[in-house]
Amino acid sequence: ATPAATMVGTAIGAQNGVLFKGGDVLERAKDVDTVVFDKTGTLTEGEMELTDVVALGGSGAPHADGGETASDGGVVASDASRDQLSKDDVLRLAATAERNSEHPLARAIVEGARERGLEIGEPEDFENVPGQGVRATVGGWDPRSGSGGASGERSEPRAVEVLVGNRKLLRDGGIDPAPAAETMERLESEGKTAMLVGRVPEGDGEGDGEGELVGVVADADTLKESAGEAVAALAERGLDVMMITGDNERTAHAVADRVGIDPANVRAEVLPEDKSDAVEAIQAEGRQAMMVGDGVNDAPALAVAHVGTAIGSGTDVAIEAADVTLMRDDPVDVLRAIRISEATLRKIK
Ligand code: ADP
Ligand code: MG
Repeated sequence: ATPAATMVGTAIGAQNGVLFKGGDVLERAKDVDTVVFDKTGTLTEGEMELTDVVALGGSGAPHADGGETASDGGVVASDASRDQLSKDDVLRLAATAERNSEHPLARAIVEGARERGLEIGEPEDFENVPGQGVRATVGGWDPRSGSGGASGERSEPRAVEVLVGNRKLLRDGGIDPAPAAETMERLESEGKTAMLVGRVPEGDGEGDGEGELVGVVADADTLKESAGEAVAALAERGLDVMMITGDNERTAHAVADRVGIDPANVRAEVLPEDKSDAVEAIQAEGRQAMMVGDGVNDAPALAVAHVGTAIGSGTDVAIEAADVTLMRDDPVDVLRAIRISEATLRKIK
């Protein structure tokens, strides 16, 4: 493009909140034939809210599913067996473990616990497992004394290791997620992100089967108002629209269904470090992909894509790695960016 055309295109973009990083990308964007959206924070608002807390049967329960309390979206203390934690206990454990995590899923759990007036402890130890969840040591919870918490009268409060996260995290921690399968599937088919809560008594060796599943918590995100419209407009223009997410298959498909993305175009359970490989695989099919994302996780994928597009409210790392930034955070502007590129190049021919 001539410097003049580039200046005009860049200016028109800027007026519309579409920031192109230089003339090269302004030229490249018109060739995009596939748009790959990140889910959380890109198609959705990325403002998670705690929606469900489910207490599962404790170690003594014959069948954990039998010990499950009704989940009506509220957090009500359960009246089930002795070993079983109440919903409030499950939530308090999860919130304490997640207290120092900056992940939106974690913030929603902590906020939800606060709103319900629960006392959130300070974890003694905390480890973030990217794309899977958190592992934390929480003091004052004796798994054999029933419900724990700061006010309990116990001679020797024991610390427990608490795991909050996906199936893999729990499995790796020696806890079988199977008893929660039905609960997880129900929540996920509602488009929610369901997370398992497990605990392992401190001092016990790893993998000796002492860990137990205590509950499930779920967060939900709201779709951006224009997400469906953006997908429809891109498809109408003849572009293939895909979605990529670290979230589980069921949740991903529920969201894709709502915004009108073909199930075959969904890539779910993609680990943060694998997102760029997934984009490269798509491009290896001869496609010119535009990756649209907001998170630190998305940065490498934004960098390898034919065009990387960041959501303006996204992380600095994503904006840094991207070629285009959408200042209005509106997925509809993805098509606008492609159109501006087309119009700019048309003018200079
Ligand atoms: P996304 O790509 O949607 O931003 P991530 O790659 O960050 O998601 O996480 C993938 C999955 O790992 C989540 O859906 C969740 O099951 C689990 N996970 C990640 N971080 C946390 C956390 N802090 N607490 C609980 N679960 C988590
Ligand atoms: Mg995201």
